[in-house]
Amino acid sequence: MDYDKIKQAVKMFLEGIGEDVNREGLLETPDRVARMCEEIYGGMGKTAEEHLSKQFTVDNNDVVLVKDIMFYSTCEHHLLPFFGKAHIAYIPDGKVVGLSKLARTVEVYARRPQIQEQLTSQIANALEEYLAPKGVMVMLEAEHMCMSMRGIKKPGSQTVTYAARGCFAGDHDKQRMFMDMVRS
Ligand code: ZN
Repeated sequence: MDYDKIKQAVKMFLEGIGEDVNREGLLETPDRVARMCEEIYGGMGKTAEEHLSKQFTVDNNDVVLVKDIMFYSTCEHHLLPFFGKAHIAYIPDGKVVGLSKLARTVEVYARRPQIQEQLTSQIANALEEYLAPKGVMVMLEAEHMCMSMRGIKKPGSQTVTYAARGCFAGDHDKQRMFMDMVRS
């Protein structure tokens, strides 16, 4: 990441909205924002391959579900946060990954300018590509600050997105089973 560029941009942005960049409270802000970017955009240019490559063999292929994975991302249209919960289910094909790796996978794709629809499908695609299960289902529920703070100002409203791959795709019984598990 180009720290100097970020610092310069933050300074110009503050000037643009009419701030005095030399007042005490703002002196360190460009530097602070640049350092923060390292974390909140830390998924830039990365894939979940490293997290999903450590796999364990299983002799039954019962469904694995991890629900309520908290995530924080940034809307690429407004550069404001959207955040909520991810729920991931997959039906293994002889291999599973550590449960925390699913949360890591969400993190990699959330930490970049994003839209929720794309985040949902990138998570599903990563599992399909790097773990190759029989099927994957991903559901994201999130609140978008660009809808809560501005525009239509509907705080608390949730945007829900789904992605189904492999044996979940087009199988409404399996999708319903996923929903029941998420809701229970
Ligand atoms: Zn937005």
